[in-house]
Amino acid sequence: MRYVSTRGAAAELGFADVLLAGLASDGGLYLPAQWPQLPPLEELRGRPYDQIAVEVMWPFVADDIDRAAFERIVTEAYATFDVPEVCPVVPIGSSVAGRDLLLLELFRGPTLAFKDVALQLVGRLFDHVLAQRDERICVLGATSGDTGSAAMDACAGRDRVDIFILFPDGRTSEVQRRQMTTLGAANAHALAVPGTFDDCQDLVKAAFADHVFRDEVHLSAVNSINWARVMAQIVYYVTAHLSVSPDGAPVSFVVPTGNFGNVLAGWAAARMGLPIERLVIASNRNDVLTRFFTTGTMAITEVVPTTSPSMDIQVSSNLERLLFEALGRDGAAVADLMSTFRSDGSVSVEPAVLEALRTEFDCGRLDDTAAAAVIREVHDRTGLLLDPHTAVGIGVAESMLVAGPLADPTVPVVCLATAHAAKFPDAVEQATGIRPALPDRLGDLYERSERVEHVPADLGAIESLIRAELG
Ligand SMILES: *Cc1c(COP(=O)(O)O)cnc(C)c1O
Repeated sequence: MRYVSTRGAAAELGFADVLLAGLASDGGLYLPAQWPQLPPLEELRGRPYDQIAVEVMWPFVADDIDRAAFERIVTEAYATFDVPEVCPVVPIGSSVAGRDLLLLELFRGPTLAFKDVALQLVGRLFDHVLAQRDERICVLGATSGDTGSAAMDACAGRDRVDIFILFPDGRTSEVQRRQMTTLGAANAHALAVPGTFDDCQDLVKAAFADHVFRDEVHLSAVNSINWARVMAQIVYYVTAHLSVSPDGAPVSFVVPTGNFGNVLAGWAAARMGLPIERLVIASNRNDVLTRFFTTGTMAITEVVPTTSPSMDIQVSSNLERLLFEALGRDGAAVADLMSTFRSDGSVSVEPAVLEALRTEFDCGRLDDTAAAAVIREVHDRTGLLLDPHTAVGIGVAESMLVAGPLADPTVPVVCLATAHAAKFPDAVEQATGIRPALPDRLGDLYERSERVEHVPADLGAIESLIRAELG
């Protein structure tokens, strides 16, 4: 399998190079040169998650990774989840009489958010590919909470990877901070920086722009534009489909969306032949995607903070992959579009392109008050506590059950649950009066000892610290 850049000007690469590169050299994102087709669903039905994962992902990696090694890596990655189904599906009914919604629980991994599904695999793939090449990398990132903890957990204890995550001191939740500071792995470093998430992000960008430093320490990133993350997420659309549609009839999915990575994996599953009826993009008040899929114009506005912070995004990087396909894989056209977007803060697609996208996608938005009402209603009716991101998806789904894209009662509706309620305890407590408890396996999080390095918001200081730690 070869991979092409969405901007058409970078060399085609194989899987291992795409994994390590992340972004293409022309600024684009990688996509497979052709879409492989899934094995017949009957052949997958009834098999364990890790085996299905290997079958679904194999064509993407086959040229670069040995089959037995890949099977071992996948099995190890998903053994870190707390249920054998890995991503179980749970029926939760709905507030709309006679209609049932199905929750796809993606938060059963070590850090309680769906990013574990991709990152537990990607951390191990890094180690494997780097060992083959006898190389090391130093992962550097900034986090406001979720991505950093998932990436640190995935890289902790790996042989060939060191990871340094900058977080704004005092501005993450205590759970998020402790998930980064209590790993007890010599190669995983949580750096507390005075300032905001944007300050941390700027320091990371500056470190990547320092080419001498970047080459010296082999700097790398694990951000959501990495193809391997999208690839790993395709799997749970397939396993959810198998479990809710015994005869292989189409299923609709509702996806709480920020950077467009999760829902893009559903779209990729459809390219591979999975029968999907509708893909619903659910946004909070930061509704750049809802506006784009309604009007065909994407325009940046101010980010407003919400109770679902992992969706507080105005530039959804992964949308570029969808645009590439919608524009007939014309890399030059995508490059033009992105450059207009960068210079004007706004860009439009032709009505015919929007119409084509709308044959698959629908969209909706929900504000914090409505999301809190959903958390309360579902708790009253079922006893289940939803996290605020998941609640945005459920609320949007419910608004489409009577009239609209999800009205056909014969099509199962699967809502993706992207975090455990205990990851966002304040919003859940405010909605229900109940503070969600951490799952048992994290029960000692508050007793574990923390290791955190305090650094000034200064590039030179951060580079010295990284050099010293790497010895
Ligand atoms: C990252 C994240 C999202 C958004 O996912 P994208 O792939 O960026 O669309 C939604 N919910 C939670 C809890 C997340 O951590």
